[in-house]
Amino acid sequence: MDAERLRLLLIEDNLPLASAIMHMLQAQGHLVDFAADGRTGLRMALAAPPDVLLLDLGLPGLDGIGVCQRLRAGSDRHVPVLMLTARDALDDKLQGFASGADDYLVKPFDDAELLARCLALARRHHIGQPHLLRIGPLNVDRRDGSAWREGVALHLQPQSLPQRILLALADAWPRTVTRSELIQRLWGDEAPPSDPLRSHLYLLRQALDRPFQGEMLRTVHGVGFRLEAMP
Ligand code: CA
Repeated sequence: MDAERLRLLLIEDNLPLASAIMHMLQAQGHLVDFAADGRTGLRMALAAPPDVLLLDLGLPGLDGIGVCQRLRAGSDRHVPVLMLTARDALDDKLQGFASGADDYLVKPFDDAELLARCLALARRHHIGQPHLLRIGPLNVDRRDGSAWREGVALHLQPQSLPQRILLALADAWPRTVTRSELIQRLWGDEAPPSDPLRSHLYLLRQALDRPFQGEMLRTVHGVGFRLEAMP
């Protein structure tokens, strides 16, 4: 099935392990690009976003968390990230999620598990439906950020910050997007002082939730924001 043929990018500095993973995935019919260090891998992921990024946490130079953060800040689409981590670095999984990983696997993992996670991540991110994100009653068109809830178009200015916040949350759904990730994505390293998100989140709530029953935009206290599919 063609929709199941994934374009994957593996960033891993352990060459025997990288080679084993690539052979396994290629044997299953998937296309696998490879980088042995974070900077090269990040460049490749930004130039040609893969269906899923397999990202080793412990990399020389720019590590997995750094790659993930820069990818989130630099890419205007959500690249699903599967973080690969050693057991003794397991505490880092929380840091991994905070930096924007979608899932993680502890080494050593078996082939079937790796494959299953890749397929699940790719499906969750709508392979074969690249333009339209569906989150419960909400549809978001990735191409221009236009959105409908219960079939009614939302009043959001094209390219406005509230619209870009909605797109970021829809791309990441069902994951919670951290406050710092959102700020990075909207402003890069030039975030305005004080609480730059506040007024834009207010405007987004006015458009997304106020005319309807139930709050889709949820605040996860101390963490960030997410969309609720069944408000
Ligand atoms: Ca490593």
